[in-house]
Amino acid sequence: MITPSRRALLTGSALAVAATVLPSRAMVPASKMQGPGVYRYNLGTYQLTTLFDGVWYLPIDDTFVRNASGAQVNQALAAAFLPPSILPISFTALMVNTGTKLVLIDTGTAGQVADTAGSMLDNLKVAGVDPKAIDTILISHFHPDHIDGLKTKDGAKVFPNAEILVPESEWTFWMDDTNMGSAQGAVKRYFLNARRIFKDLAKEVRQFKPGAEVAPGIESIPAYGHTPGHTAFAIHSGNQSMLAMSDTVRNPYLFARHPDWQPTFDMDGPQAVTARHQMLDRVVADRMLVEAYHFPFPACGHMVKTPTGYELVPVEWQPL
Ligand SMILES: [Zn+2]
Repeated sequence: MITPSRRALLTGSALAVAATVLPSRAMVPASKMQGPGVYRYNLGTYQLTTLFDGVWYLPIDDTFVRNASGAQVNQALAAAFLPPSILPISFTALMVNTGTKLVLIDTGTAGQVADTAGSMLDNLKVAGVDPKAIDTILISHFHPDHIDGLKTKDGAKVFPNAEILVPESEWTFWMDDTNMGSAQGAVKRYFLNARRIFKDLAKEVRQFKPGAEVAPGIESIPAYGHTPGHTAFAIHSGNQSMLAMSDTVRNPYLFARHPDWQPTFDMDGPQAVTARHQMLDRVVADRMLVEAYHFPFPACGHMVKTPTGYELVPVEWQPL
């Protein structure tokens, strides 16, 4: 018979053995990896998948927003529980399965923009899709974070079977030698990068006119200002619609809450502000689901109007 004190002794020694065999959870090296960045949802008969690429933590200074002080920007970051003077820029591509075509809207960074981004292809694999299976790629504009995923760092094509549709006005601007000649700093680098990416893709690239239907049920919407040909996409299936806003609104805690702010990213600040208001007013009025390339993952939700701007209401994650 085991007496209570004997039982306590046994339990104690069993624990001691367990402690020598099983390491404490705290002793397991802290993992740097999160789970997969894939989020699927349905729109009519289409299946949409957002594919996370990563986040760029961009140091910003007092000149980042042309018409707001550094203190005002830091106040907006603090209101979103973010540290000062660092802008988190998420990247999330959107894949649309129409039932007959696989369409990818923008391409991720392929690790060529920031060390903390470049996981889009890994997440495409998690979603069960081979890059060879992508039929169509829609490009919103030619900033590196949207086009670099077309090629690896070594210049190899990533989507060998895809037709690449680009806004005609965007192509015209970035491929113009006079424009490139007068560009400086980061914009000059964007010109060189656009040429690096597209230089041997001429056969695959097709230019579309603003407003054109670019894939079954996908309509292009000119939203100029961020760049001269910057384009958003409305997706319609059955009686449902959603709007992929591209870079019309980037970090929502800065630029939806303060829609009149003009960050240096927007090449034509006033034009971008007009496009932002028009688009946000439309999605608020129509209660439309939106997706935006730089919203926090899964980068989709609804927008509501507030007395001073707009607020993102993220989707509730649905396991199925
Ligand atoms: Zn962007």
